[in-house]
Amino acid sequence: MSSSGDIAELAAALSGARSLCVLTGAGVSAESGVPTFRDPDGLWKKYPIEELATPEAFSRNPMLVWEWYAWRRELMRDAQPNPAHYALADLEDQFAMRPGASFTLVTQNVDGLHERAGSRNILRLHGSVWDLRCTECGCEREDHAVPLDPFPPQCECPAHGEGQKTGQGTGRCSAMMRPAVVWFGEMLPEAALRQSLQAAAASDVFLVVGTSSLVHPAASLPLVAKQQGARLIEINPDPTPLSGLADLTLTGKAGEILAALRPPRRLV
Ligand code: NAD
Ligand code: ZN
Repeated sequence: MSSSGDIAELAAALSGARSLCVLTGAGVSAESGVPTFRDPDGLWKKYPIEELATPEAFSRNPMLVWEWYAWRRELMRDAQPNPAHYALADLEDQFAMRPGASFTLVTQNVDGLHERAGSRNILRLHGSVWDLRCTECGCEREDHAVPLDPFPPQCECPAHGEGQKTGQGTGRCSAMMRPAVVWFGEMLPEAALRQSLQAAAASDVFLVVGTSSLVHPAASLPLVAKQQGARLIEINPDPTPLSGLADLTLTGKAGEILAALRPPRRLV
């Protein structure tokens, strides 16, 4: 665990920042009980990645992929935001009150826990398990139902075009929906990536929390920030490829370290 001196240095860096960009990964939700991908008890140790999180896997065996996502959706629905999520939502509020200051939260997480903790402006690089996209017409909808019914979920958009099959004469598209997440080998949402790169380049402090910094292009954001002169701060219990470049490394759990930054709860 980091020393109180490191936490004081982190607090000073954040309160002195003019433009703060925060990148979070699966580690920020670990204390909420959502497994990460690459830790010893992470998801990929039990399930081979190529059988679950690629477009090829979905074409080959959509039911297997959907069952995995149904399990993850249930787990994520039952999880609660932890002190790290709340501390980041507080930081956004604090920056909103400081004239001329800017705050950007970029996440690779798909669980929705930042939103539930109160973060408002989130750039989601890898989508969300709560969004579904039609495999035929591309139509999207937000759906928090657990379990999904029907399963796998079907598109409810009106059918378009001559050649399109419609479900039992309902006039609806009815094709299978997929989770609107970014699978390995797929492109990131262009606008979110562009805005994240802009925020990274403009930041004077860049904070990386709970990511193994192995998955690009997300892992490039801290490098872009550093190249443009930002102070790079990392919070992670383990070393990552980024640790050698960081100006300040806080070794420990995100919830414990970020909770130490929170002001006492406001009395109402
Ligand atoms: P990752 O599994 O590759 O790395 C997790 C990192 O978190 C590791 O470096 C680990 O040391 C660190 N960590 C573990 N516990 C921590 C804690 N308590 N506090 C701080 N750090 C902790 O995950 P990644 O870097 O986010 O990248 C992989 C992909 O995983 C992303 O694309 C993301 O979409 C996906 N993912 C998301 C979730 C989620 O939404 N909660 C869960 C698993 C995977
Ligand atoms: Zn459709």
